[in-house]
Amino acid sequence: MMEGVVAVRDFTRLCESLADSTGEIHYRIETGLIVSGRAFMRLEASGKLQLQCQRCMQGFGWHLAASSHVYIARNVAELDLWDRQAEGLEEAVLADGQFDWFAWLEDEILLTLPAVPVHSTEACPTDQIVPQACKPNPFAMLATLKQHQKLKS
Ligand SMILES: [Zn+2]
Repeated sequence: MMEGVVAVRDFTRLCESLADSTGEIHYRIETGLIVSGRAFMRLEASGKLQLQCQRCMQGFGWHLAASSHVYIARNVAELDLWDRQAEGLEEAVLADGQFDWFAWLEDEILLTLPAVPVHSTEACPTDQIVPQACKPNPFAMLATLKQHQKLKS
């Protein structure tokens, strides 16, 4: 089992997606065997990241909770075998000591980030200052039209 803390600024690729690089990531990597005897590695990561809201462009704290696993093949033959099996669709790596766990950790954090980070509706100042400025509610417009028609008739 491996456990530790990495400063957010050490993840260069991740920092490109953040509003700023303050904070740290706690990680935990465990290895084990599933019933079939296959070895696996499980990763868990958590921390607070500063994302940029794509609605108001302000930074906000976002809680990361990532988890993933990979199977560890003992040799190339086993890796090939898994590739041909249905389970081959799952992630598998070779147990050759070359595995870059840091890159794996960063990849998993990147995969967990929201595609379009936005504040929650209550927290986003844009929504409070100009409610529905960009997107008029079509149902509200329809209601207004109906009212006009009633007045006319
Ligand atoms: Zn916002």
